[in-house]
Amino acid sequence: MKIYDIIIIGGGPIGLNCALEAEKANLSYLIIEKGTIVNSLYNYPLYMTFFSTAEKLEIGEIPFISTAPKPGRREALEYYQGITRQKNININLYEEVLKITKNEFFLVQTSKNNYEAKNVIIATGFYDIPNMMNVKGEDLDKVFHYYKEPYPFAKQKIAVIGSSNSAVDAALETYRKGAQVSMIIRHSEFSQSVKYWVKPDIENRVKEKSINAHFNSELLEIKENSIIFKDENGKIQEIENDFVLAMTGYLPNFKFLENSGITLQGDCLNPFYTPETMETNVPNLYLAGVVCGGKDTHLWFIENSRIHAEMIVQDIVSKNNL
Ligand code: FAD
Repeated sequence: MKIYDIIIIGGGPIGLNCALEAEKANLSYLIIEKGTIVNSLYNYPLYMTFFSTAEKLEIGEIPFISTAPKPGRREALEYYQGITRQKNININLYEEVLKITKNEFFLVQTSKNNYEAKNVIIATGFYDIPNMMNVKGEDLDKVFHYYKEPYPFAKQKIAVIGSSNSAVDAALETYRKGAQVSMIIRHSEFSQSVKYWVKPDIENRVKEKSINAHFNSELLEIKENSIIFKDENGKIQEIENDFVLAMTGYLPNFKFLENSGITLQGDCLNPFYTPETMETNVPNLYLAGVVCGGKDTHLWFIENSRIHAEMIVQDIVSKNNL
């Protein structure tokens, strides 16, 4: 069996950047990706706009030309998938890594094959596992944890759960296509992370009561035709409802990290890694990208984690573990 210098798990922007760095250092590598190239971005809302400007999303010093300062999903898909084609990145698609074990080398077991590598980089992101609300009725067909576009919700009574960017974007888009929107928000205000140019829009829609925002409120139950929540006065309210958009965030695959031998620490289940090298407590097993933040999924994004690729490859080269 061929022994790769590096196997990279996950073909998101950061996994691709790791491949570009490996290529630069003349190391043999393989990316194993369970979906399409940049699968998380493929699953983003269709008309989303990044909060980062195009150049902040660049990898491998390859220019990201966008028609607007902040690109949208389609431009990002063109950019990252284009790089994969042009640079002939070695990537297996629709193949899921199930298990990593370490003997002399790493054995990487996937849904299709087994591979061996001297070093493994986990760049699996956090977009595959929704942060469940754990309320009765969450399993009904009318509840969505991923939002794509507003058109199915025209003239419908919808409840958006959450208060950060995804929730605010979904509320504004569906409201503008004729949905009757209620927001159930645990906190007393919208998240500080809401894009600064979107915040006044949502706040004004709430002020004029075009969107009904229930702050300091807790969703208790979802029924076929209604939802039940506790409002800020502790009163139980039941309102009519056709669809629920649960924009309550996503989580890294903690079981996979733990099964790979990585120590998870504290309330946020932060995976252990050395900040200078990104190496975990398992020698030669590295973390890259947004997976590093544990439950705190606002800590890392493309902009500030694309640097991980260079740090990791430098460490591998300097250890001469090849
Ligand atoms: P991901 O892109 O999530 O890539 C991980 C990949 O690993 C996925 O393709 C997944 O399919 C694959 N994978 C997972 N498990 C396995 C497995 N077991 N086997 C094989 N493959 C696996 N960041 C910014 O910098 N600027 C922005 O403007 C911005 N806007 C955002 C807007 C939205 C709506 C969201 C949700 C996020 C945004 N982010 C932004 C954050 C950032 O884009 C993402 O978190 C980014 O995708 C992180 O890249 P990554 O490579 O670390 O992880």
